[in-house]
Amino acid sequence: MYLLLRALEFAADRHRNQRRKDKVASPYINHLIMVADLLANNGGIDDPIVLAAAVLHDVVEDVGITFDDLEARFGREVRGIVAEVTDDKTLPKSLRKQRQVEHAPHLSVRAKLVKLADKIANVRDVIERPPVLWPRERREGYLSWSATVVAGCRGTNEALERLFDEEVARGRAAFAARKS
Ligand code: ZN
Repeated sequence: MYLLLRALEFAADRHRNQRRKDKVASPYINHLIMVADLLANNGGIDDPIVLAAAVLHDVVEDVGITFDDLEARFGREVRGIVAEVTDDKTLPKSLRKQRQVEHAPHLSVRAKLVKLADKIANVRDVIERPPVLWPRERREGYLSWSATVVAGCRGTNEALERLFDEEVARGRAAFAARKS
């Protein structure tokens, strides 16, 4: 577990100026802690490599750490998982989202676990503390797109897959209730 603490320290430092898009601009590290917490306490995952990769999953994509730097600090396996779940930011957003759907079934089991927990955390945020600029259609669209990505990750962790389904159902019910 010492690897996880080191990953948390590094991620908290590197993401220190980044905020979520919700009303109170939550610190970005909250998202990373939620992803690791979901894996450990809902998914029953105690693999320190997966938990460290969960905490570091956005560090290349969002704050420009290189994969080589990541490997030097946390090893080849963590690098590999983070690489699998990192979007290619040179691509336009719509294509990146399409790629996630296409790539999901081909991810390693460890990367699928991180992807599942990341989608649960994001869906939960879209329901409970959505980005302020997102109209309802965009929030609903996010749930649907996430579900297609998660479809490609199934057969990996029953508890996490069930939790994802519950969160999506909760979100759809909440959005429908607000419509009337
Ligand atoms: Zn994430």
